[in-house]
This record gives sequence, C-alpha cells and structure tokens, in this order.
Amino acid sequence: MASAITSAEELIDTLGLDRSLIEPARQVATQFAVRVPRGYVARMRRGDPNDPLLRQVLPLAAEGESVPQFGPDPLGERAALRAPGLLHKYHGRALLITTSACAVHCRYCFRREFPYAEQTGEGARYSEALRVIAEDTSLEEVILSGGDPLSLGDARLTSLTNALCQIPHVKRLRVHTRQPIVLPSRVDAGLLAWLDSVSIPTVFVLHANHPNEIDESVRTALAQLRARGVTLLNQSVLLRGVNDDADVLTSLSRVLFDAGVLPYYLHVLDRVSGTAHFEVAKEVAQRLAGTLAARLPGYLVPKLVREVEGAPAKLTLLPRFAEK
Ligand SMILES: *Cc1c(COP(=O)(O)O)cnc(C)c1O
Ligand code: SF4
Repeated sequence: MASAITSAEELIDTLGLDRSLIEPARQVATQFAVRVPRGYVARMRRGDPNDPLLRQVLPLAAEGESVPQFGPDPLGERAALRAPGLLHKYHGRALLITTSACAVHCRYCFRREFPYAEQTGEGARYSEALRVIAEDTSLEEVILSGGDPLSLGDARLTSLTNALCQIPHVKRLRVHTRQPIVLPSRVDAGLLAWLDSVSIPTVFVLHANHPNEIDESVRTALAQLRARGVTLLNQSVLLRGVNDDADVLTSLSRVLFDAGVLPYYLHVLDRVSGTAHFEVAKEVAQRLAGTLAARLPGYLVPKLVREVEGAPAKLTLLPRFAEK
C-alpha cells in the first residue's frame, strides 16, 4: 500500500497519457486523493485514456460538477448506525466499518463522503459495536467492511474476529474487500494464518468490475483463499465507460468463475456527489441484465440491485429481454 501511486501526474506519466489530463485531476482530487496500487496500473493499457481500469481511478473534471439528486449520503447510512462504526439495515446481519483505508481509491465510491473520522470502529470504539452485536441474538452474520477491512494488520483482524467468534449467535463472518483484486500480494502467509484462526464459515465478497482486473497474480491469491475453504463471491458496480457492455459483463462472469468466484451483485450506482458521470440509465441496466440472463447459466448472472433507503433488503431490478 505504501508504494501505491498517489498523484495524478505519476499515474498519467506512467501510462504515457496526454499531460493535459493532469490539471483537472489535481483540481478535483483534493478531497478524495488519487491512490492506485502499481500492480493494478500494470493491468491498464498504455496510452489509452479510456482504459476501463484507469477510468475507475482517474479523477475527471466532471467530479466537480454538482448534479441534482446526487448528495453526500444517498443511502441514509448515518441513520442506520447502531453504534460507532456499526451499520444495521437488514435482518440478521450487521456491517462493521473497520477502517477508512483502501488500497485503491475508486472514483465512484459510495462512501467517499462518509464521515469516517467519527465512524470507524477503531480502537476503543470497537468495544461498543461488539457489545451491541453480543446483545442482539438476531445477528447471525457480521460483515467486515470499510474502507477495506484488509487494510487492517493481521493482528488487529485476529483480535477482532476472536471477539466475534466468541459470540455464540454469530454463525458467519463476511468480509467485503477489494484487496485480493487490486493488491493480491495482501493474500500472504499472515493473512492465511488469520483465516485459519477464524472458527466460523467465512465468505469474501470481492469487488471486480472488469475482466481485465483478473490476472495471474489475482488468480493465485484467490486459489489460496479457496484452499482455506473461503466462499468467494463478487460484487460489481455498473459504471458508464467501464462495464456498461454485455460482452464485458459476460466475460467478467466467465473470468470470475474460472478463478473460483461466483457473481453475486451488480449494483446500480448510488447517487453520491461527484459520481454522476458514471451513471447508467435504469432501462439500459435492465436490458444489460436481460442480455446476461439470456446468455449465461443462472449461476453466472449477478443480481442487478439498487439500494433504497429504508427498504428491508437491496431491491432487485428485473431483467428486460430484447423484443423478438
Ligand atoms: C449491502 C449491505 C449488507 C449486505 O446485504 P446482503 O444483501 O446480505 O449482501 C448489509 N448491511 C448493509 C448496511 C449493507 O449496505
Ligand atoms: S475499495 Fe471499496 S470502499 Fe475503497 S474506494 Fe473502492 S469502492 Fe470505495
């Protein structure tokens, strides 16, 4: 993480792109800095400003535009806090915001405006979240999220999951992480030893949006997780100019399957400020879902979902099929 590229200038020069992209990127990246692991940059095409991996991480002037209906907290997350760092929206599972740190900064991130400074469960703050989880016997699953929970060191992860595993009604651990995709070297001996110490079934929900994100280093990391018995699922965000294309999404499902991962969700973009240029119209999204469903076995079709504030689950959008 320490050796990541953290300036638009270096990113653009590394890829041999037109330097006129630098200034707009600098101007909008003041609040949410550029951050890209070098191994991820290596998977981008040199000289192509429209590379689908680059588009996820390069700040564009459009981020600075204020667009109606795009706000700081479109999901009402602040209202779902049960304790510092603990979001409880859905029955049976609660989400623990473990850290604000990520290995990569995705420009479309729905938590880019989340008040992490107040709300990561770091340090003594975990204790209140753990107390709430221990007292609520309906919570059978705890989701480690963030930021990226694998930004925490192995010792921190181990003490946290040791505490969770001691709560009898917590039956499953889920980890929402992008690191095995963007920084596969994170899956090292220490991380695997941590997984061995977790005594309850563990699910990783990964986050890849484009098949070019999965290279040999990622496949190796994922194989090691699978060898530990971890269930691997993937969630993607539907992004204009990145993966709003039936061939790309079909290929992503196949590439994931070959790497031992099943597609889980395809999220419609959450309307957070600065991300409007990534939005795909709902009808287009539903047609893409229809094309995927018509092409692939059911288990390789991610569910197209949208989050609606106050709903008891994520909302599924139905696929639309091409007219014959
Ligand atoms: C998305 C989400 C979950 C997980 O929902 P699943 O449908 O079980 O994947 C849990 N808690 C919060 C707050 C969420 O946003
Ligand atoms: S890895 Fe996840 S939490 Fe981190 S910036 Fe990307 S989308 Fe946001």
